[in-house]
Amino acid sequence: MFSYRHAFHAGNHADVLKHAILVHTLDYFNKKDAPYWVVDTHAGAGLYNLESDWANKTSEFEDGIGRLWDAKDLPPLLADYVARIRDYNTNGRLKRYPGSPWLALDVMRPSDRLRLFEMHPTEIDTLVVNLEHQGRTAQRQTTIYGDDGFEGVKALLPPPTRRGMVLIDPSYEDKHDYRRTLITVKECVKRFATGTIAIWYPLVQRREASEMARHFENLKVKSWLHATLTVKKSTIDGYGLHGSGMFLINPPWTLHEGLKQAMPYLARELGQDERAGFTLQYRENPFPVPKKQSD
Ligand code: SAM
Repeated sequence: MFSYRHAFHAGNHADVLKHAILVHTLDYFNKKDAPYWVVDTHAGAGLYNLESDWANKTSEFEDGIGRLWDAKDLPPLLADYVARIRDYNTNGRLKRYPGSPWLALDVMRPSDRLRLFEMHPTEIDTLVVNLEHQGRTAQRQTTIYGDDGFEGVKALLPPPTRRGMVLIDPSYEDKHDYRRTLITVKECVKRFATGTIAIWYPLVQRREASEMARHFENLKVKSWLHATLTVKKSTIDGYGLHGSGMFLINPPWTLHEGLKQAMPYLARELGQDERAGFTLQYRENPFPVPKKQSD
């Protein structure tokens, strides 16, 4: 079950899409003083060394963050994200890549809270050690659970502050992850209807993947945004991820505008062949309640 290690994939095109959206969403939350919670149901190790044997074995980051690293014409949403990654690489060389928990902590204020779930026995040890190096404020803000994130998130919703975001980012190596993600999303909406729920998923030739995305689009929520990025054609053996999607329930209203510039840029700069492209959809009030007829 626990064969997936995010270190092989850190900083790849899927991380770029997911993390750029994460940074933008939390920057938007910061526009109001009221504190918020972030719940990351699948946290990973927190911080990745891009010079490690694992990262170098696949070098996926070179076709992800690596292609944006020296760009001078980044759209604002991507410039904000790359600036966060630069903070980890102060001499200008791309050597370290922060995962979702660390990017969240970077954007969050001391009054905001981070809740992390991670089940891999080694990843959780690394996550705990990495947090010890993050300083007192980050430690006070953060709780790490070595539990199943699909189950654990339920008990945390709604957060006491009634503001917040849930990031659901499984590896989907287990095909049951698609069904479990959908069930968890429905629970999150039921318990925290005003919260922002962000789900990452791989673009793969699986019935479960396309069905899950279709179910999301039919949820009775106030608004949703669906972005997919394809970087290359899919291969028959399915080797190498050819694209991924992010689905957000109650996204910040600024996200759609930001992605209108960012998605074509990403498709162009991260694209590896003629099949590279993107989709971007946003719906507000997709199921309006019919007005009552007056007598
Ligand atoms: N969110 C991270 C990021 O963006 O940096 C990457 C997470 S990685 C795609 C998925 C992680 O979920 C892996 O580290 C895996 O060990 C962990 N995991 C797998 N099943 C889990 C579960 N049921 N609950 C919590 N974590 C789980």
